[in-house]
Parts: sequence; C-alpha cells; structure tokens
Amino acid sequence: MKLDKKSNFSEWYNTVIREAEIVDDRYNVKGFVVHRPWGMRILKTIYRIYEEALEEHGHEPVLFPTVIPEENLRREEEHVEYFKAEVFWITHGADRLLPRRLALRPTSETAFYYMYSYWIRSYRDLPFKAYQSCSVFRYETKATKPLLRGREFLWIEAHDVFSTSEDAYRQVREDMEIAREVIYGKLAIPFMFFQRPQWDKFRGAEYTFAADCLMPDGRFNQIASTHYLGQRFAKAFEIKFLDRDGAWKYPYQTCYGPGIWRILAALISIHGDDHGLILPFDVAPIQVVIVPIPSKDVSYDELIKYCKVVEDRLRSGGVRVRLDSDPDVTPGAKFYFWEFRGVPLRAEVGSMELKTRSVTLCRRDTFERVRIELELLLDAVEDLSRRIFDNLRSKAERELESRIVEALSIEEVGESISKGLIVKAPFCSVDYDGEPCGEKLKEAYSAEVRGIRIDVEEEPPDGAKCIVCGRPAKHYVYIGRSY
Ligand SMILES: [Zn+2]
Repeated sequence: MKLDKKSNFSEWYNTVIREAEIVDDRYNVKGFVVHRPWGMRILKTIYRIYEEALEEHGHEPVLFPTVIPEENLRREEEHVEYFKAEVFWITHGADRLLPRRLALRPTSETAFYYMYSYWIRSYRDLPFKAYQSCSVFRYETKATKPLLRGREFLWIEAHDVFSTSEDAYRQVREDMEIAREVIYGKLAIPFMFFQRPQWDKFRGAEYTFAADCLMPDGRFNQIASTHYLGQRFAKAFEIKFLDRDGAWKYPYQTCYGPGIWRILAALISIHGDDHGLILPFDVAPIQVVIVPIPSKDVSYDELIKYCKVVEDRLRSGGVRVRLDSDPDVTPGAKFYFWEFRGVPLRAEVGSMELKTRSVTLCRRDTFERVRIELELLLDAVEDLSRRIFDNLRSKAERELESRIVEALSIEEVGESISKGLIVKAPFCSVDYDGEPCGEKLKEAYSAEVRGIRIDVEEEPPDGAKCIVCGRPAKHYVYIGRSY
C-alpha cells in the first residue's frame, strides 16, 4: 500500500484512519463510527490534557443527561431555529408515544442553563465555570467523514457565568489561551484565532470566536470555538443573581467547545507522512517501542533479557514503552507496524547493542538513528522527544505561513483558493451588512469568510476597498474552504 499525502490527501486520510486503527466507519448506522483502541488511547490523552488545562483555569467537571426536553430547546428562539434541523428526537419509550419528545443533545446550553437557574443565586456564586466531556448528536445531511463530520461526535463543552460583561470577554481570551496551551503547546498544531462574521456565529450567541487550523488539502478545520452569549440565555432561562448592591441581575455567559474529534483529525493530518501517523511524544499511547534484532551471534533469549533491562529503564523514567518481542514477526515488519501508528521513538536492540550495553534510537519524524549508552538512555529520550516536538511544530508553522497569501480582487481570491491557499483580503464588514459579500464568495468559489484575526495585531486596511463590493474595507479577513 503506497501512501501519498500530498497528491491525494483524502485517500491518505481514510487509509491512515483505518489502518492505524483509529476509528472504523463500517458500523451499520450512517454517520456513527466505532473508536478503536489506538485511536481511543490518543483521544483519552487529548481529553486528559484538555481537562487538566480547563481545571487549572478554574473549571469544574460535571456530567449532564444526554436527553434534553423540547421545552428547554425552545426557550432561546434563535438557538432552536438553527438546531431544529439537526436534532435527533426520542419519541417512544418501548412502543408508547412519550408525552413530550426528548432531543439527543446537539449541544447542551439548554440543559446546563436550566440547572444554572437553580444553582446561581448570588454574586458569591460567580464566576461559575463547569465543563463536561461527552458526545453530541447531530442529524447531518452532508457527507460524513470520520473525526471531521459525524452524527455523533466527541467534544468538551464548557459553560461559564459571570457577573459582568468584561469578565465574560476575559473568559473568551482565556479560552483562546487554553487552546494555545493545549493544541499548540502540547500537540504542536498551529492555528489562527478568529472573530467569526455575524452571519456565521453560533446561534444564540452575540459573538463567536474560533480556532482554525489548516489541513493538508488547504481547508480550514475549526478545532475549538468560544461564544460570548451576553445575557440572552440568562434571560431565556431566568438565571439571576443577587448582586452586592442588593439588586437582582442577569449574569453574562460564555460557552466553549474544544472539538476533541477535530483536534485528533488535525493531529493525524498535519503531522502524518507517507509512512503513516507521527505522534508528538505527549499524546503517543506508546512513546518508545523496543524491537529486538536477532542475529546468529546472539541467542534470542539473551537478547530479550537485555531488551527487558532497557524496558525497565525506560519505564522507571515514566516513559510509555512496549517491548515487541514476538519471535515470529521480522524486525522489518515491526518497524513498519509501529511507524504506521506513529510511535515517536524506536529502540533497536541487536548483538552490537547487547555487547556494548547501548541502544540505537530511531526518530519517527526524520528516521535519524543514534546509538546511546544505556546509562544515558533516559536523557536521550527526553532530549529527542523535545526535538521531535519542535520539528513537528516548526514544520507545521512553516506550512501554515506559506499557505497565506494576500489578494486585492475577487478574481485573485478565486485563483488562490483553487490552489489550496488561504487568502487575506480587505473586506467591508463582518457585521450583517457584509453578508451579501460573504455569500458571493461562497457561491463563486465555495469559500468562506472565516473572520478577523484576534490572536495577532493587524493594521486596519488603510484606504483599501472590499474585494467584493468595493465599499471601504473595515477589516482584513481570511477566506478559504472549510470542513
Ligand atoms: Zn463588501
């Protein structure tokens, strides 16, 4: 099986997901996939890292029911208007029609905030920050794709409540910072953070902000989003608190959705190569695999005995290690197997290593090999794990930078988009009055206005005109195709 990520990304992706045993999409309900052990272990690690970051930033874990009664969904008009086209309904218990139908949560604002109206009473209860790790259900009518679009998918949702609007906006910034710590800092995935155009915001929110990374085919992948809800849900759910001044007030809310599935899709796609996955050290289920290399001048038992010494040494240093000692599989086949699964370091142990009490380490990202004395093994592994991380991240950053181009006309936008690039261009407005211009880009090139960057300072377009309508441009926006 020859993989070619560059010329056929879609085939590469499907093959890697299947062959590396991430998920299996042959389950007999359309849009629902089975998570296999290798994928599940990576997912659980991403969950753990994200949950730790959320908790460090003051969030508490909760778990809400999967079902939401219809009356909750209906409380916020714009919200239900949007989601009603995507809701799975439970209508029956056994063969009896239920007195009220229940939604399988498409997202849980209307479950959380129903309960928040009981829990939040005083300014002393604020800020109130809670999250849950769960799956949500959406009746997708578009083509589904494992880890990118499904009818059930995994994510985290955090729901925060504040006494002031300023505090809520600060939370939006903090959400961006948490994304940076985890997605960029631990998973080596660079991304851009946008304020989305009003016409593309989360329904029920005042403003939506989102992290987009770039997939190898040039499409944006939204990996996390955070929403400033203002007081809209507080009013819809009668969440009120007694403030210091003795007055009852509606609080301000935010909600945050790191897309764990989509983060995994990005991790696989951005770092992988034609040999399969490449996992950064922190998320690899196995960080070092030990492969014995049999030869005539050493007995297999003796070799395995030394491999176990190497294994113990690594394990004592907290490294997730596997000794692949199956005598019936050739070293070459083992190399291929573990490379495909993205194990960041391979430790080769043959007669030379045994004789000299050493180990040969091979990096998954560059295939560089180096022989290390056993006594220095742990230090070397730590050093190499950092180098692999730095290499993956700087490669991904260079790739992202090289894909951003500027355009001053709609034709230039079209040309660049068709080459898989992201376009930075002057644009009239990301308020509703710019929506017709956004629609035109969508019709002409299936491209979307992703919004204004808020993670970097950008000069406003001085005197430039909107590339679509020619009115004075208020902002630079980024345009591209998306998943
Ligand atoms: Zn315009």
